[in-house]
Order: sequence, then structure tokens, then C-alpha cells
Amino acid sequence: MKSAWVEREAKDAVDRYGAAGPELALRVYSTRLLGRDPKLVLHGGGNTSLKASARDLVGETVAVMHVKGSGADMGAIEPEGLPAVRLAPLLALRSRDALSDDDFARVQRAYLIDPAAPAPSVEMLLHAFMPAKFIDHTHATAVLSLIDQPNAQELCTDVFGGRLGFVPYHRPGFGLARLAAQVFDKSPKVEGLILDKHGIFTFGENAREAYERMIECVTLAEARLQKNRKAFKAAALPAKVATARAIAPILRGACTLRDVDGEGAHKRLVLDFRANDAILNYVNGADLARTARAGLLTPDHVIRVKPWPLLLPAPAAGQLDAFKAAACKAVQQYADDYQKYFDANKARASGVAMHDPLPRVALVPGLGLFGMGENAKAAAMAADIAEATAEGIADADAIGRFTSISEADLFDCEYWPLELAKLGARKKLPLEGQVAVITGAGGAIGAAAARAFAQAGADVALLDLDLAAAQKTAAAIGGAARALQCDVTDAAAVAAAYDAVVAAFGGVDILVSNAGAAWQGKIGEVDEATLRKSFELNFFAHQKMAQGAVKIMLAQGTGGCLLFNVSKQAVNPGPDFGPYGLPKAATLFLVRQYALDYGADGIRANAVNADRIRSGLLNEGFIKERAKARGLSEKEYMSGNLLGREVTAHDVAQAFLAQALALKTTADVTTVDGGNIAAALR
Ligand SMILES: [Zn+2]
Repeated sequence: MKSAWVEREAKDAVDRYGAAGPELALRVYSTRLLGRDPKLVLHGGGNTSLKASARDLVGETVAVMHVKGSGADMGAIEPEGLPAVRLAPLLALRSRDALSDDDFARVQRAYLIDPAAPAPSVEMLLHAFMPAKFIDHTHATAVLSLIDQPNAQELCTDVFGGRLGFVPYHRPGFGLARLAAQVFDKSPKVEGLILDKHGIFTFGENAREAYERMIECVTLAEARLQKNRKAFKAAALPAKVATARAIAPILRGACTLRDVDGEGAHKRLVLDFRANDAILNYVNGADLARTARAGLLTPDHVIRVKPWPLLLPAPAAGQLDAFKAAACKAVQQYADDYQKYFDANKARASGVAMHDPLPRVALVPGLGLFGMGENAKAAAMAADIAEATAEGIADADAIGRFTSISEADLFDCEYWPLELAKLGARKKLPLEGQVAVITGAGGAIGAAAARAFAQAGADVALLDLDLAAAQKTAAAIGGAARALQCDVTDAAAVAAAYDAVVAAFGGVDILVSNAGAAWQGKIGEVDEATLRKSFELNFFAHQKMAQGAVKIMLAQGTGGCLLFNVSKQAVNPGPDFGPYGLPKAATLFLVRQYALDYGADGIRANAVNADRIRSGLLNEGFIKERAKARGLSEKEYMSGNLLGREVTAHDVAQAFLAQALALKTTADVTTVDGGNIAAALR
């Protein structure tokens, strides 16, 4: 591993964070260097500290320790992410024999110089008990491959000599800090510590020294992993393996908790597929059944990936039914095992409720792995951890035998409130775990629907003929929102778009088939080409999108929701709007046909009849022209309805969202037009 320290960048950091002082500025700089490298730190893991002095709230200068806030991302840390804690009271705890969890949680906050600062890391006391000015702590994958071994101490002595102290495994918190202090007191000249089955600490008198020692030790571990490697033993695989695209919806369906509220709501997960040589080297290994159940690389991963992954059989191409049956059985077995694990260990934590029994990582021999989560972000975090785990375990097994902590120790971390605090308070959103595909997402109604569905917790795939417009919507939403160029009238483009959606999220639960355009012409005179063009977009494209969605929904077997933008023209024709209204009327019927044909599969189909919405179809020039033709002001024209209020794209989006959330509503047409008796459905 190469040092990423660049003196000029370090100086820039000192300039940038001038107000914080040069030491804290460099503390921020090297914390970011460590946090940027996934081979050192992943998703809230790892932490750093600096011992310094600070003015407290009454102006007195006191000795403090700046330490990373619990769960903060080291790669993007700012000085505020390293809150200052008074050092003296923490040191007073060094001679204590024990500290309860409740007291530990109080201590975490009690001595903050700024009471509003984030809670410091659960490894705060370990940092405090070590006298070094700068301390870096990572969960470097190479170091973990070395210490997730039965003879970890022997290997560490061999690789690091006496430079690092060796601390036996203990759950993070006071007990671990105390144990580390005892090890340190026996050899106070060490440059850092190895925490067995957990990670590495390095010390320094300045930021660079602690950082360079970390890089040096990780490099030593990497070099050891290249020595005396055992030959890789591969498992037998089918001659031709199915694609990730083919199995993702099946897996997603298998990993669903059905009807969790007795009213038809499912708990679904979003999938993130990964494959590369290192992953395949692991999942194709002959020993996968053992290593997959042997635990995790480092204990804090358990809060994001559960104590072990789901192990699936290699899916043979063309035998998806057999794979589906095997996947469902494997997930059921996983849930049973998880329940047993919880029951066997629940006495270790008082009054905790079991987390859901679904896996967060699935290993698929011959193919790769899937991270799974309540949204695409959580799925990506699980996949990142799974990737590091695949590499770390393969390396550990190549030089010895991967050996992690016990399931009881994992349980202690998985159900430890102080560890779970890293996840932050999570508000459950109504469409959490669901994937929505929205067409015409670059337009006004599509963009409003995309925002509404994303705010309700869905991950959204945004399709538009105009990629830049879809990207603009995606950028405004942020997160995992995915923009895709798609001509919805082209069957191949629709198939490719669904492939991309499945590759990104694992499947589809909601379709908002919104894309449309208006063609005009007196029906007795309009040329057939115009009429056919309108049918292509305003009818056949809806059918193509719905057909593609239904195929995936059936593979998932967890129902779904098809939503169509139909328009008032479907029931109340406007003069010369036949070319637009006719296909929309057919689409209205399409909604009812889907509702009828797929109700038994839990797939609902609903439509919104909107009218007079400012959009690409009804642009400013058109509004002016129409208002003038009727002798009305623009405002009078736009609010020319029973309620006398202009209807917006946001109103239409809210109607779509309401239909998606109304689990017992299908074949419904919701009118969003401010009231128009002539267009009212009967
Ligand atoms: Zn740690």
C-alpha cells in the first residue's frame, strides 16, 4: 500500500482549516486519507484522534482529545466531525474495573466541550488511554486477513516484530479500552496495537508519523499475504451459468418478507450486484460453505451485513425454476438459522427485539455477490463490505484458515445499542425497499413523480428520450437515482432499460408510465401516419413498458403497481384532439385489462386523468394562445375548473403516489383536473 500523503495538500489543509489550528487541520487531512481508501476503512468504521488543548465554554484552557464522531465517514470528515472531549475525566476511568453500557453512553457525551457535538466513537476510551498525540485506527483488509487466524498473535510477531502490541479480542467499549491499556502498560514503547479479529491502531507524535506507520504496517501485512499461499481449490460449477440479470428478480422475490402487516404490505430489499476476479475467486471456492459461516472480517460489519451471508447454489442457465426453488429454500433456512441465533443469544442483551431475519449479502457461485438493503444506498454499503470480506477471507484462507469471532461475540455487536447508534435514527418510509421506474422523467409530471416517489423512500430509475433532462431530474433527487436514455416506442430500448434497472436495483415494483406527446388533427382528415405515430407513443409504449414491468414482477412474485398517465382526453374528447385522445382511450382500457389479468398476482393497475398541467405538452406559448382564443387571461384559463385553482404537476404526482400506496386499489382512474363535469367518469 502506497502512502497518499502529499505535503502540498497537507499545507492546503492547514490553510483551509486555519481557524481550527494546524494540528487539527492535519488530523482532518490524514483522517480523510485513511477514509478514502476502502482497503483501510469502510462506511463509518475506523476512527482517529488528537490530543490537544482547547478553550471550554467558560474560557478556561483544558487538555482535550479530538476524536471521530460515532459512525462518521472518515473520507469526508470536517473539523466538527472530530469533537473535543475533556481528557482528565476519561483518564480517571483508566483504573476502573468496569463501566456499564449506560454509564459508557453517558461518558460518551458528558465531557464534550460542545454539548451539541456528535457523540464520540465507541472506541473513544481506547484512544484516551493511549498517551500518543495522534492515533489512527483502521480495519485494513490485509491486516484482518492476518489476524482472522487461529495463530494471529504468532503471525503478528512474525510480521511486525515487537512494534505493535497484541490485544486479545474483546467487544469495543470500556472492556476493550481497559485491556488495551494493560497491554500497552507492559510494553509502552510500541508504535501501535493489533486488536485481534478487529483491526489495527498506530501512534504518532504528529499526523504524518501515525499515518505513515499505518501504511507501513498494512504494507507488511500485504507482503505476508503473498508468501506461502496455498493453491486455490475451485468448486464444480454448471457448464453455463445464468446471468445476474436473470436471477436478480428471483432472488429479490425470495428475500421478501410477505404481508408483514396482514394487509398486503411486503418488506422488500434493493439489490446491488458485484462481480470481479477477487469476488469470483472467493465465491467459486471449494470451501465456501465453511468460510461463509465462519463469521465476519471485523465485528462492526455485523450491523450492515448480519452475522453471515446467504449462500446460494450456482444457477445453471435455462434452469431458473430450479434456482427459484433452491433460493426460496435457502432464504427460509437463513431465516430459521437467524431466529435460532437470536434465541440462543438473546439473554446476552436485555429487552432487544429481533431484527428482520433477511440476509443482507447473497453469495452466488459462478456469478458474484449481491449486497441487499432497505434502499440502494444500504445495498451498496452491504456490497462494499461483502467485496472486502470476499477478498479478506480468500487471502486469510490462502495463508492459513479464516477464523473469526464467535456468533455470541457477533451478537454482542449486532445488538449493542452503542454500535447500532452508528446507523443513526432511521425513519421508515412508506416505499422503502421498492424500485420505481418513471418514463418521461425529464418532463414536468415525470420529474414531479420522481421526486414524490423518491421522497416516499423508493429508489427511482428515470427514463427519458432526452438523457440530459432525465439526468437533471436525477441530479435534483440525488442519492442513487438513475437516469437512462430510452425511446419507449422501441422494444429493444425498453428491454435494455429494464436490464439496466435490474442491474442497478435488482428489480421493479412500480411503473409510472408517463411519457406522452400530443398530436392534433380533425379526425376525418388526419393522415394515418400521424395517428399511428400517436398510437406508438400514447398506447403501444405504455403497453411495452407495462409488459416489461410485469415480466419482472412475476419473476419476483411480490406483486407490483402499474400507473399510467391517461389524460382527460381519454373520456372527454377535445375538438381536433382525436389523434391524442384515441390512443389515450385505448390506454385507459389497457389499465383495466392489466388490473383484470394480473390482480391474482398482486399486480395493481391504476391511472391518473390529468388536465391542463403546465408541461412540455402544455407550454407557455400554447397556454397564451389557448387563453387568447377563449378570451381569457392566462390565469383564468389555467384555473378554469370547478375549484378555480390551477392544477400542477405536483398534484398529479401526489395522485400517482396515493395510488401506489393504496394497496387495495386497482383498476382505478383518479381525476386530477380541479373539477370538470364534462370529463367526469361515470
Ligand atoms: Zn474498530
